Amino acid sequence: MNLFLVIILVILVGTYLLDLIVDTLDVRHANTDLPEEFIGYYNEEKYKKSQEYLKENTRFGIIRDTIFTPAIVAFILFGGFNVVDQFARGFNLGAIPTGMIFAAMLIFASQILLIPFSIYDTFIIEEKYGFNKTTPKTFILDILKSWLLIAVIGGIVFSIVLWFFEKAGPWAWLYCWITVTLFQIFLMFIAPVVIMPFFNKFIPLKEGALRSSIEAYGGSQNFKMKGVFTMDGSKRSTKSNAFFTGFGRFRRIVLFDTLIEKHTVEELVSVLAHEMGHYKERHIFKSMAISILTTGLMFYILSLFINNRELFAAFKMEEASIYASLFFFGFLYTPIEMILSIFGKLLSRKYEYDADGYSVKTYKKPDSMIEALKKLSVENLSNLTPHPLKVFISYSHPPVIKRIQAIRMICS
Ligand SMILES: [Zn+2]
Repeated sequence: MNLFLVIILVILVGTYLLDLIVDTLDVRHANTDLPEEFIGYYNEEKYKKSQEYLKENTRFGIIRDTIFTPAIVAFILFGGFNVVDQFARGFNLGAIPTGMIFAAMLIFASQILLIPFSIYDTFIIEEKYGFNKTTPKTFILDILKSWLLIAVIGGIVFSIVLWFFEKAGPWAWLYCWITVTLFQIFLMFIAPVVIMPFFNKFIPLKEGALRSSIEAYGGSQNFKMKGVFTMDGSKRSTKSNAFFTGFGRFRRIVLFDTLIEKHTVEELVSVLAHEMGHYKERHIFKSMAISILTTGLMFYILSLFINNRELFAAFKMEEASIYASLFFFGFLYTPIEMILSIFGKLLSRKYEYDADGYSVKTYKKPDSMIEALKKLSVENLSNLTPHPLKVFISYSHPPVIKRIQAIRMICS
């Protein structure tokens, strides 16, 4: 049996089993009484509901993976990639257009298969727990818009990478790295003004008590008010959030309209101060630098596997090509990607503690910050007691109780 095929099957089945184990542990771990910290914020019935929400979401994820993993394995074993490849080659175009057809067909097929799951998630689960506000029209438009983005951005990146690997010889990985990085920086820069308004409306924060409080706080931190926006999150869900995005002139702190609705001015300024903490401590810049380094690593490793005959044999391909190498490499790269992602999440959780620290040190209202965190997790029915392994692997934010404890430590 082909060694690459064995490795890839082990990776596919291994990740499936790992997810299954971690999710099962996580659900079991949530079977607890209401943590003391949240007494008065949840009644018994609502807390039960939050635990049900976790169970239902987890079960849904497991069902989806249980359908997709065997489907992908079967597709590989029965030579599905070769069928698609032969079809794409049937047009008798050059390597790059053929690669684009090959990629488009695979990506389009997987996107289509995901739609029923997305419908169930939005209109059954989210609806049942009172979160869903998405209309069928918004839902369909979102899909079409995201496809357009995948086609444009993915098409540009894929063709650049193909072109370099076709033409540039042994240093192609380096040229790919430099070009893709420049493109990525450009996208990060323009996303808040070009891409995000595609999906949501962003309005500069209106005059009023909130705005003047933010101005007063922002003034003390040398932050210009024009960077604060509200977003119509209520278009899709009642869940609330806030985030920081972009660089330079286009940087923005965004507060969901659903957040503003449910929180006091002091809680909102605390949240905004947290987001400002991400900016002042240069978290976005640092994450970006790390992502650039890992992209370089990925292109280098990719270059070692381009046109590897054994790899093509594993996928039952009749003809080798650079474009198919990119897809097959993706399977091999999964474990490395997972390890890098675990480090990334670890760093992200550290940044969250730092941003909370920034908020309570500069705005000096730890009680408002804690209140905001508690209300946010109740509104969003977040899991209060995730399993440590689940946190370690996939949480970008620390569990809320840990954040509250950390804030109390700073202020004691
Ligand atoms: Zn944060």
